[in-house]
Amino acid sequence: MSRKAFFKYGLIICLIIVVSLYFAKTPKQVLLSFDVEEVNTPEQVNFILEELSAVNASATFFVQGNFALENPDLIKKISKKYEISSHTMTHPRLQKINESQVKWELTESKKVLMNMTNKTIKGFRAPYNGLNKETMTLIKNNYEYDASMFKGYSWFFPPIPNGLKEVPISTMLFIPMEDVIFTYYLKMGDFGYFLMSNKRKETISIDFHPQHIWEHKLAFKYLLEKYSSQGAKFMSHEEYLGIK
Ligand SMILES: [Zn+2]
Repeated sequence: MSRKAFFKYGLIICLIIVVSLYFAKTPKQVLLSFDVEEVNTPEQVNFILEELSAVNASATFFVQGNFALENPDLIKKISKKYEISSHTMTHPRLQKINESQVKWELTESKKVLMNMTNKTIKGFRAPYNGLNKETMTLIKNNYEYDASMFKGYSWFFPPIPNGLKEVPISTMLFIPMEDVIFTYYLKMGDFGYFLMSNKRKETISIDFHPQHIWEHKLAFKYLLEKYSSQGAKFMSHEEYLGIK
């Protein structure tokens, strides 16, 4: 690239950033969710609970049934303060198994979590965002809401059946991965975060994996304190949908 072109494109990029920052708003509602799976440890989950508690934040935990069976006390502890939703029993790719197996993943996990927490399990999240039309119908028949789709990517997913509510798994604009956010938070602070997210939205939703939080503890603390000091309201999915 010539020197002239370098400055020209640099100037255009700077302008876009300045204009975007000018219109940026801080979010009013923050929906945090955590996918708790067999790859996770109770230690990782307990760290999240402590940090949420420190800023008095509400949140939703999508728990894999088999993890719950292995850690019943931890799940009961989470359910006292936070919403528990289902993330299947065995964490399969739902498109790769037959319909009766999908049905079992949906109903068994709901039953296990309900018996363990004594609460209604209202939400579902598909592993690997693996959804098709048949699965959507099964979700509708067993849950009040689904939280498996990325905001703004509806063309990528099957249609949402009437009567099923949808909460976006993430409202991140480009790469909906929390480890990217974390990396940018640590290296570049808010500026990097802004580039990766759609901060103009009044409600933002971020899906986290405990193993990534464990690798970026400081960034997670910073993120919670930041939203908290801006006066954002942390909400569980059921609070957001008004079905608590
Ligand atoms: Zn998962």
